[in-house]
Amino acid sequence: MNFDNILNKAKDVFETAYKKADDAFSVQKQKFDVAGLENKLSKDYEALGKLCFEEMQKGAFSDNAAFLNIAEEIKVKTIQIEELQKDILKAKNKKRCTKCGAAIDKGSVYCNACGQSVNEEE
Ligand SMILES: [Zn+2]
Repeated sequence: MNFDNILNKAKDVFETAYKKADDAFSVQKQKFDVAGLENKLSKDYEALGKLCFEEMQKGAFSDNAAFLNIAEEIKVKTIQIEELQKDILKAKNKKRCTKCGAAIDKGSVYCNACGQSVNEEE
């Protein structure tokens, strides 16, 4: 199926599924449908982007600077997310000293920064 055939099929589907907006109620419904279709469209673009990114890992689009810049941003943000998730995991095993605010191990009885007793249950 070529691109023109896909477009004609899309128009046929649209014309059988939707009537013209001729009152406030149908306008409201069509606005709702537009929002739903825009949401689905965003997901399609996202899926297409992921496929392109996967193809780029195999060397596709390597002559396209715009593609390469976005792929670089994706890699940087992926690394940032991984680093933050590691920090979050570490922080789960820590608590804050009630006196000085130092991050200390959850099992600690005393703060190793200021000596405050921190044995209370949280
Ligand atoms: Zn302390």
